[in-house]
Amino acid sequence: MDWLQEKLEIIKSRNLYRRAASYHAISSTRVENSGRTFCLFASNDYLGMTHDPVVQQAAMQAAKLYGTGAGGARLTTGTYPLLEQLEKELAIFKETQASLLFNTGYMANIGVISSLAGPEDVIFSDQLNHASIIDGCRLSRAKTVIYRHKDMEDLYRLLKDTPCTGNRFIITDGVFSMDGDIAPLNYIVDLAQSCGAIVMVDDAHATGVLGAGGKGSASYFGLTGQVHIQIGTLSKAFGAEGGFVAGSSLLIEYIKNTARSFIFSTAPAPAAMGGALAALRRLVAEPQLVERLFANAKYVREGLREAGVPIDTGTTPIIPIMIGEAEKAVWLMNKLKSSGIIVTAIRPPSVPDGTSRLRLTVSAVHERNQLSKAVESIKAAYRKMNK
Ligand code: PMP
Repeated sequence: MDWLQEKLEIIKSRNLYRRAASYHAISSTRVENSGRTFCLFASNDYLGMTHDPVVQQAAMQAAKLYGTGAGGARLTTGTYPLLEQLEKELAIFKETQASLLFNTGYMANIGVISSLAGPEDVIFSDQLNHASIIDGCRLSRAKTVIYRHKDMEDLYRLLKDTPCTGNRFIITDGVFSMDGDIAPLNYIVDLAQSCGAIVMVDDAHATGVLGAGGKGSASYFGLTGQVHIQIGTLSKAFGAEGGFVAGSSLLIEYIKNTARSFIFSTAPAPAAMGGALAALRRLVAEPQLVERLFANAKYVREGLREAGVPIDTGTTPIIPIMIGEAEKAVWLMNKLKSSGIIVTAIRPPSVPDGTSRLRLTVSAVHERNQLSKAVESIKAAYRKMNK
């Protein structure tokens, strides 16, 4: 299979080769690599739950009580009380009738979309939706119509002009994973209501982040009860692993019986579920964690903006620094690493050609000195890059 080598060489020659660096996490914001400690600004652990002692203890306890693995799929022998409890509390948190857990957010998206949509349906999907939504659309075999990123006039025109004999779905990220911008869910729901479309929002980066107490996009826009399908992940603000869908009891019952990534996969591991449940409870008890997260994001955003570093006008903890060429983005990432700061260079195919960027993520548990060091280091590296 020498052709694999040739294909890899092409990837390398385009500066798009990736290697997974191995980091030992010391805390939610500090990692160690080859004997050196770095400050992490590249994790989705928005609330610092991965290293919260109560969350860690709950994960260990769950492994002890229920075992290290579920041992079977949900509809055979893999359902244990902790899963059902977490589903109940997630539904309360999302203010929906029910929820259903998947092993990952990726599996939730592909399972839910392919379970609900079929060849007679049309899915209207934002241009910058996550890869798992794109893959779910492909698996569903529905006609997929891409609308320009957050462009409601484009969506309106496409909804009007695209013939459909089945159901129409509008699917969007709640907070976009690469740019950190917020989908205009209020307009999307209005448009959907005007033509009877079903709305699905992927709140992977909005759960525990957007809205009062981090309840997500629907709550942020005051649309509780008006978004048919809400997806979330446990791998980001909840510091664990797993995905979920929240909605009506009817929706959840149907997905439980038809979503292949739910039916044909071993149920999520108890440790992850125990950790996620403890994280959810902590967030419910301490909603001010979300305020701290946004205060930290504001501090970094203002510091970078004042220094002329090109960032958008957003507010979320995902802060993209637009660079353009993949080579420059990689240079900047390495430069920052040498100053002790870990950020990620996002390059094609994750983003379109010419839009490479650094993706900086801020956590509620970053300390002020870590935030100011990041701002100063980015300022200095950015100036050097442009000299
Ligand atoms: N949706 C979005 C918008 C995401 O950013 C991600 C993760 N990067 C996922 C879904 C997948 O979630 P998970 O990591 O739990 O598979």
